[in-house]
Amino acid sequence: MEKEKVIAMDGPSGSGKSTMAKNLADKLDLTFIDTGSMFRTLGIVLDRLNLKEGSDEEIAQALANLNIEYMPTADILISVDGEDFTDKIREHHVSELASIYSQKPAVRTFLLNFQRSLAKSRVCVMEGRDIGTVVFPQAFCKFFVTASSDVRAQRRVDQLKEKDPSGTYNFEEIKADVEARDKKDMEREIAPLKQADDALLLDTSNMSPEEVLNKLVEVSKAKATELNINL
Ligand code: C5P
Repeated sequence: MEKEKVIAMDGPSGSGKSTMAKNLADKLDLTFIDTGSMFRTLGIVLDRLNLKEGSDEEIAQALANLNIEYMPTADILISVDGEDFTDKIREHHVSELASIYSQKPAVRTFLLNFQRSLAKSRVCVMEGRDIGTVVFPQAFCKFFVTASSDVRAQRRVDQLKEKDPSGTYNFEEIKADVEARDKKDMEREIAPLKQADDALLLDTSNMSPEEVLNKLVEVSKAKATELNINL
């Protein structure tokens, strides 16, 4: 089967995969696509419509009326019906909404099609939970990035502090949140968080960002050469 010109980067929350995917995309001059931002946005939008207990039909209908725009290189990363969601999606409580609504089949189908359409016109590094397993099972290069839950929780705390230095953050609570969300992501029925059989596992707990980037570049280039793909 023909390979898709996509580098898939999956892994649990706080594994650092967003930063790594972005660094890799910059280095290879490819488009970086953050699929978590889409689940976060739809989490807010659908929650405003009170659809936590909504049926799949109700959710599908709500989604069909939305105009969602994802612009990887613009200041506004993501908007729905003209409303900018770029900053709102980074608030802490939105992680939970994304996790809840991402279990809805209608949400997953909608974003699966959306994500596939985005990759049609460009070579991209796409990061998420199910990119190598479900969205692009034929991606030419796949990574599964992880780190210990202590390291991941500390990274989440650092991220939140960077956004709001005046806030107070409880490490143990954040670690429990991170672990609970991973559990939900791994145990959900549709498109669970899972390493693809042909993905390279990278545990970044004890790796510097430079070491990770070097490894990603080396493996991506080797795969592209092997498969005759022009990056
Ligand atoms: O990656 P991020 O933390 O922004 O993702 C937020 C949530 O969105 C995840 O916990 C997961 O529930 C959901 N998600 C998903 N599939 C993806 C990306 C994110 O289910 N491809």
